[in-house]
Amino acid sequence: MFIVMEPSSSRRDVDRILDVLTGMDAVGYACHGATQRVIEVLEAGAGLDRGRLAGLPAVARVVDEPLGVLGARGGAERETCPVPLGSRAAVGGQRVVVIAGPCSVEDEGRLVEAANAVAAAGAVALRGGVFKPRTSPYSYQGLGARGLEMLGRVREQTGLAVVTEVMCSEHVEPVRAVADVLQVGSRNMHNTPLLKALGEQDRPVLLKRGWSATLEEFLMAAEYIRQAGNPRVILCERGIRTHERYVRNTLALAVVPEVKRVSDLPIIVDPSHGTGRADLVAPMSRAAIACGADGLLIEVHPVPSRAWSDGAQSLDVAAFRELMAGLGPLAAACSRSL
Ligand code: PEP
Ligand code: MN
Repeated sequence: MFIVMEPSSSRRDVDRILDVLTGMDAVGYACHGATQRVIEVLEAGAGLDRGRLAGLPAVARVVDEPLGVLGARGGAERETCPVPLGSRAAVGGQRVVVIAGPCSVEDEGRLVEAANAVAAAGAVALRGGVFKPRTSPYSYQGLGARGLEMLGRVREQTGLAVVTEVMCSEHVEPVRAVADVLQVGSRNMHNTPLLKALGEQDRPVLLKRGWSATLEEFLMAAEYIRQAGNPRVILCERGIRTHERYVRNTLALAVVPEVKRVSDLPIIVDPSHGTGRADLVAPMSRAAIACGADGLLIEVHPVPSRAWSDGAQSLDVAAFRELMAGLGPLAAACSRSL
């Protein structure tokens, strides 16, 4: 059980509730988050009076589920709070944004080629991993600091915002020096020390869904970042693991309207990791926009057959250009722009 305090509540209000709990022979744990104060009732006996707790001053509501702490309501959608994507765009507004680029940064020539191509086709941000979370230790692990320098130079040359992954707290400082958005990969969605470290940053965070995470776990991971002080979180649906074998992951698009109902966070969709197949990226991109996604994260490589990682799911430049050309009218039909 969680006692959610009013936004205007103080530490003293919380202390008063803790005293009341003690008087009810119960034990409370207080979290003074940046977004709200919440008391978890850790243990309680027969004396716990839920109705009385709900009516105490400074108490907003008493809920049983973590999602209730977020203020999730049935019925109407909540308003999405846009998160900046560099200085020229935001995720979660009227405009659907596209972040595109190679899975991994490989060399500067290819990175520049990919960046120029995605910018020309209408992407507002460049993606590219330099710290790569690979399944096998024998697979390419990324260029590290050298790749960050390349991203920094390409950002200057093209004006594209840069999105790249951090895998541990030690990556946060060097990555924030060049990136506009810090990405948390699927494998790290449950890494709460990393989420807390990102909560102490002012830089927006792109949080990818863990491949076996429920929506509640996904939203609570975002809450770790927000309650530590950084409200700028962009959710990214990238598919979950199911029994299916014809795709790498099962893209769970129903999460998009559900996030719109229960959360104020923007959500984008990654049809590349979400399917693992280049031929499915365009249809699933269109489906994502149709169901209300605020943006797309798409892997694009100048020569996918030669990519050092994830070539099978990467679009070449021509396919990306063609996809983008079709997305504008689709966005317009959904009362959005691209
Ligand atoms: C990525 O976007 O580069 C990536 C590794 O994706 P995920 O964490 O979703 O597997
Ligand atoms: Mn990839």
